[in-house]
Amino acid sequence: MRADNPTEASRWIKQTALGIGFDKVGIARAESLPASFFIRWLKNGFHGQMDYLAGQVEKRLDPGKLIEGTRAVVSVALNYYHADPEPLPQALLSRYCWGEDYHRIVKERLQLLYSRIQDRFPETSGGYFVDSAPVMEKQWAVRCGIGWQGKNCLVITPEFGSWIFLGELLLDIELEPDNPLQRDCGTCRKCLDACPTGALVAPYQIDASRCLSYFTIENRQADLPDWVKSKLGNRIFGCDLCQSVCPINQKQAKTSKEPRFAADPRRLIMDIDAAQNWDKMQFKERYRNSPLIRAGYALFKRNLQIVRDNRKAQLRHP
Ligand code: SF4
Ligand code: SF4
Repeated sequence: MRADNPTEASRWIKQTALGIGFDKVGIARAESLPASFFIRWLKNGFHGQMDYLAGQVEKRLDPGKLIEGTRAVVSVALNYYHADPEPLPQALLSRYCWGEDYHRIVKERLQLLYSRIQDRFPETSGGYFVDSAPVMEKQWAVRCGIGWQGKNCLVITPEFGSWIFLGELLLDIELEPDNPLQRDCGTCRKCLDACPTGALVAPYQIDASRCLSYFTIENRQADLPDWVKSKLGNRIFGCDLCQSVCPINQKQAKTSKEPRFAADPRRLIMDIDAAQNWDKMQFKERYRNSPLIRAGYALFKRNLQIVRDNRKAQLRHP
């Protein structure tokens, strides 16, 4: 069957996506995104050492250049929120990496959705991505009506806040586009005020090179600058502060239907001194299929040492 009725095809794709377990789905017409904001962001050096972001800019801004013939972008969202473990660990991992690596979980669902679309509309082709290709996933999620861009630069959904993973399908069929949401952050600026490093330099503008997530996950220097270490506190991997202070996130947090995102007790760092003794094999065993594996043992040890030093300093000067 050809997808020659965009309204029907869109309805079918959305129902199928929700049936597969995605929490939200939306559609946008594939077109070139405005370049000026992104180019200015790169020129400001806000991407830090993440040089890959400065590559493939044309493809990044135009899905038709990434996959020729793309006519529609389907954006999907999966809620990953699970409540804090009790007691709280001594070293904090960002909530998104408490469980299994979302890349695998979102991708297996996208793969299933894509194959069902191809079964139903056999002449369809395209591709699917989760944080794995030059796709401006947040901009597409906003265009697809998944959520609005928060002042913390994350996509905020009215139903789940920003506790979501995003994925995209690029398809060469015409689909009925959704409208972006008519919502915004209003006068709130809690995320900007809470950011410990001033990385949120203005509403909707992040200097990633000042962000603690960047320093703990992406920056691979053997040591971190003193001003960063002092701001890290007990965060070993990522930072959730601009999400956890967000009133929408506090109000709308709902337990994810995906149990593989829940905190895996083997991964929680309840005792930082004991964790310091984990060798590379133990690290690999504990964090198998977790986002921490990508970061690697050396980075884990570097961050853990900083957390231990911070704890010692805090015990000396409570
Ligand atoms: S993740 Fe942390 S450091 Fe980065 S912008 Fe948000 S509050 Fe600031
Ligand atoms: S904390 Fe306030 S300003 Fe920041 S993203 Fe949430 S609603 Fe928007």
